[in-house]
Amino acid sequence: MIKFLDLQKINLAHQKEIEERLLNVFRSGWYLLGNEVKQFEENLAQHTGTKYAIGVANGLDALRLILRAYIEMGVLKKGDEVIVPANTYIASILAISDNELTPMLVEPDMNTYNLDIYKIEENITERTKAIMIVHLYGRVMFSDELIALAKKHNLKIIEDNAQSIGAIWNGTKTGNLGDAAGFSFYPGKNLGALGDGGAVTTNDEELSKTIRALANYGSNQKYVNVYQGLNSRLDEIQAAVLDLKLKYIDVENDRRREIAERYISEINHPAIILPGRPENRLEHVWHLFVIRTADRDNLQSSLAEKGIQTLIHYPIPPHKQHAYKTWNERSYPITESIHNEVLSLPISPIMTNFEIQFVTDTINNY
Ligand SMILES: *Cc1c(COP(=O)(O)O)cnc(C)c1O
Repeated sequence: MIKFLDLQKINLAHQKEIEERLLNVFRSGWYLLGNEVKQFEENLAQHTGTKYAIGVANGLDALRLILRAYIEMGVLKKGDEVIVPANTYIASILAISDNELTPMLVEPDMNTYNLDIYKIEENITERTKAIMIVHLYGRVMFSDELIALAKKHNLKIIEDNAQSIGAIWNGTKTGNLGDAAGFSFYPGKNLGALGDGGAVTTNDEELSKTIRALANYGSNQKYVNVYQGLNSRLDEIQAAVLDLKLKYIDVENDRRREIAERYISEINHPAIILPGRPENRLEHVWHLFVIRTADRDNLQSSLAEKGIQTLIHYPIPPHKQHAYKTWNERSYPITESIHNEVLSLPISPIMTNFEIQFVTDTINNY
């Protein structure tokens, strides 16, 4: 069987090194806010090209903390509007509403699945203070037009970089394109921990200090609390594993690009819409390889019968969730048709050429 994502195999590829690093942490007797986190933060900042990186408990917290820090700094206030793609994973939106900011859902572009610059502009009001861009499925959402728009309306750009670590736009990595970025190290992400993990990157010193304090009970100094903070720490064990795996992320992303390239050039079924190639191959890290077809559910079960596991990212759009029940009657037709038609094929750095061929042939014979 071809699993959608074989996490065991992905991590076993680094078994010896992971075991060594884990044993070191175990023996050190130091499990939180120690050298492993410090070293990983330095290496992540260097990899991203930012001045600061702050390890936190997970990707949702990374985004929540960025917005919360802007509120503490007086840059944002409750009720301000934050533009966010309507078709994103719900975590992007939860981070906004959790801070009592107002998510302004904006429809994506049908070809990139990312925010459409023209629709962003249409949705800007006097209350709009930030745009949360999501590099969905691993593809960069960024442009000179976006920079100009943010400047014109004095908007912060927050990157949801959960799916796109290592992607590069015009020589700059995602995570270093906007004012601040949230990363997720959920095990299935391109850089995955052995549990939960997240990080914030930024070049803003005040923001980085505020986030660091907020994530540690609102404290910079033990037992002195400046904010009503939370506890959101990346632990030493996860940091050690992530620091080790970070060394391989660029090579692994490149393997994903090769696989995506093969799928795109070899899958040729008339009923299937393939994802578009970005102009520059570095602009995509292919966290997910998402195809579209009107016949999605039949295709998925047919592939399952042949031993190919696929997933749907995502089956229910955020505005149709009970969690946001006051939005349920709204209409976002592009988002809704995406959710009805998308199917994610297996893609990961440990996939063999034989497996890629089998997926391709099976789809072409469907
Ligand atoms: C995974 C993900 C998150 C949340 O990350 P967690 O570590 O699971 O909290 C946020 N946004 C997007 C787009 C994601 O894919």
